[in-house]
Amino acid sequence: MENALYVVATPIGNLGDMVPRAVEILQSVQLIAAEDTRHSANLMREFNIDTQLLAYHDHSGKGALDRIATVMESGGAVALISDAGTPLISDPGYRLLQHAHSQGWKVVPVPGASALITALSVAGLATDRFRFEGFLSARAAARQRQLESLATESATMIFYEAPHRLIATLEAMTEAFGEQRLVVLARELTKTFETILRLPVAELLATVRADSNQSRGEIVLLVDGAAPLPVELGAEVERLLVLLADELPPRKAAAIASSYTGANKKELYNWLVARGD
Ligand code: SAM
Repeated sequence: MENALYVVATPIGNLGDMVPRAVEILQSVQLIAAEDTRHSANLMREFNIDTQLLAYHDHSGKGALDRIATVMESGGAVALISDAGTPLISDPGYRLLQHAHSQGWKVVPVPGASALITALSVAGLATDRFRFEGFLSARAAARQRQLESLATESATMIFYEAPHRLIATLEAMTEAFGEQRLVVLARELTKTFETILRLPVAELLATVRADSNQSRGEIVLLVDGAAPLPVELGAEVERLLVLLADELPPRKAAAIASSYTGANKKELYNWLVARGD
């Protein structure tokens, strides 16, 4: 086993998603630093891993880091796992990885599931640009401010949410993004009650209010990015465009208005589409 710190992803629900390389590495390292050793004991049993477990999180005292360092500095190998999914993604490990790089330890990723990517892959929202926000603040006023500050974000937004805060968060999203913004609720991914609901946020809120099962379990919320704001064209150009668009399809109206006014054709077209022509 190479002298390295292995950052190992574990399943987010379905144990069938455990990667064979992850099993091999967890069986072979000298020490596994785990977010919660009792939780990880199930995974160890399931995959016949009898490597020693050490409780590690970002607020563990110096003792835990010292144990990891002792193994690393004597040429051994250590794995970092969290309760589920990819370590460091809304999970502990940041300080350990900072330390590892500062000490020049070799760091090896062993990729696998992460709830945010799993949810994004099925949401049917744009994936070319996305913004992961992790958990919103538990305090209502701070959460509302966070959401308001994202109201014009054009990338897809991804949030982790706790079941008991789902309704309050959907209410806050309705306020911040408007009732029509498309939101995807991805719940219990890879598990028995896996559900994907994709609705305008006000409808999603009504659905969740009407069926308490929809706020059970583990939840990812994905929010469609804001439509680009229409550019200011000037009253004359806008009047011309509106007149043309009454008679012609938007692309044609934009082309004529563009050659008449010298304005950018694409901007004119986007302006027409944004106002619903
Ligand atoms: N490190 C993990 C990852 O890579 O996704 C995330 C850890 S974070 C503490 C746990 C949160 O991830 C849950 O509260 C939920 O928002 C989301 N999550 C984890 N597993 C999930 C699942 N099976 N379905 C939906 N969301 C999940």
